[in-house]
Amino acid sequence: MIPYGRQHITQADIDAVKAVLDSDFLTQGPKIPEFEERVAAYCGARHGVAVNSATSALHIACLALGLGPGDVLWTTPITFVASANCALYCGARVDFVDIDPRTYNLCPQKLEDKLKIARRDGALPKVVVPVHLCGQPCDMRAIHALAREYGFRVIEDASHAIGARYHGEPVGNGRYSDITVFSFHPVKIITTGEGGMAVTNDAALAEEMALLRSHGITRDPSRMTHAADGPWYYQQVALGFNYRMTDIQAALGVSQMDRLDAYVAGRGALATRYDALLSDLPVVVPWQHPDGMSARHLYVIRLKLEALARTHAQVFDALKDQGIGVNLHYIPVHTQPYYQRMGFSPGMFPESEAYYREAITLPLFPTMTEEQRDLVVAALTRALDARR
Ligand SMILES: *Cc1c(COP(=O)(O)O)cnc(C)c1O
Repeated sequence: MIPYGRQHITQADIDAVKAVLDSDFLTQGPKIPEFEERVAAYCGARHGVAVNSATSALHIACLALGLGPGDVLWTTPITFVASANCALYCGARVDFVDIDPRTYNLCPQKLEDKLKIARRDGALPKVVVPVHLCGQPCDMRAIHALAREYGFRVIEDASHAIGARYHGEPVGNGRYSDITVFSFHPVKIITTGEGGMAVTNDAALAEEMALLRSHGITRDPSRMTHAADGPWYYQQVALGFNYRMTDIQAALGVSQMDRLDAYVAGRGALATRYDALLSDLPVVVPWQHPDGMSARHLYVIRLKLEALARTHAQVFDALKDQGIGVNLHYIPVHTQPYYQRMGFSPGMFPESEAYYREAITLPLFPTMTEEQRDLVVAALTRALDARR
C-alpha cells in the first residue's frame, strides 16, 4: 500500500533523539526552547510555545485570546475537527463559513457577508480560525482587514502549512493574525511523533500560553499574587493543563527543521508533476493562488462526476483495491453527528458539501519515488475508466 502521507526519519534524527535519551532531561530541558526558537525564527515570529499537539495549541491559543462561554468562534467546515473543537473546550460556541470553490479555504467574501448579518444581530465572533488547507495559505490580507473592521481575533490553523509562504513571506510571521498553530503529527510536513506549536509576536499571549501549557503554574514573582513563601515556591494562577512537549520530541523537531525547505520543495515538485500527468483525466487538480506558495501537505483532486460512470465511493474503492492509500480531507465538520446535535445540518454550507462529494487525497510525501507516483497515476486512470 502506498500511504497518502508518511514521515521521513534520518540517521541524524535518530542521533538527535538518542542524545536526549542519554542526557539529564527527557522533558522540560533545553531542547524545548531550542525548538521554539528555531521554528519562531524560521517563520519570522517573536515567540514559540511548543506543546504536545496542534489540538492543544489551538485550545490554549483560544484561551489566551479570552474565548469563553458566551463567545463564538468561526472556522471552515473543510478542516480536521480540532479547528472547531477548540472553541467547545473553552465553553464557547462554533459556527462555520463556507469555502472558496477554487482554493477550498474559508471564503473571505462569505465571511464578510456573514459578519454583516452578525453585526446586525449583535452576534459577532470573538475568534476566526482560517485553515491553510493542504498547505495553501488563506487570503489573509482580506481576513485581516475584516478582523480590524469587525473586531475579531485570528488564529491561523497552519497544521498543513509550515514552510508555506504568503506574498513571499513565511506563514507564521503574524503579519495578519494573532497566533499561528502548527502540527507535527507524522503525516504533516515535519514531525515530532505527536506535537504542535503556537507562534505569536505578542509577548503577553506567549506568556499566557506557556502558563496554560503547564498547569497554570508560575515561578515568576511578577505573576504571583503575593511574595514567594520561600525559594521552593510556585503559584497556580490559572487553570492550566499538562500539554508539554518532551525534549525527545523537540530534538526530533530541531533535526527535522534542517530539512523543512527540502521537504516543501520535494512536495512541490511532486505536485507539479501530478498536475501534468493528470491533465487529461476527468479530475480537477488543485488550483494554486498566485499570492501564496503552498507547503503541499495534501494533493486533493476533485472528480468530474458528470463525466464518469462511477461514483465517488467506487473510484475511492478502486484505488484502495490497487494498493493506493487514498484518503478524504475532510468530511465537513458541521455534518458530524456531534455537531448535528448542536443544530447543524447538511445543506448549510453547499460549497463544502459539493467539495466533499468529489474530493480524494492522493499519496504525496517527500520520499515518494517516481515509480510510486506513476503507479498512483496508472491506478487512478483505471479507477476512473468505467466505460471500457
Ligand atoms: C492535524 C490537524 C490538526 C490537529 O493536529 P494534532 O497535532 O494532531 O493535534 C488540527 N487542524 C488541522 C487542519 C490538522 O490537519
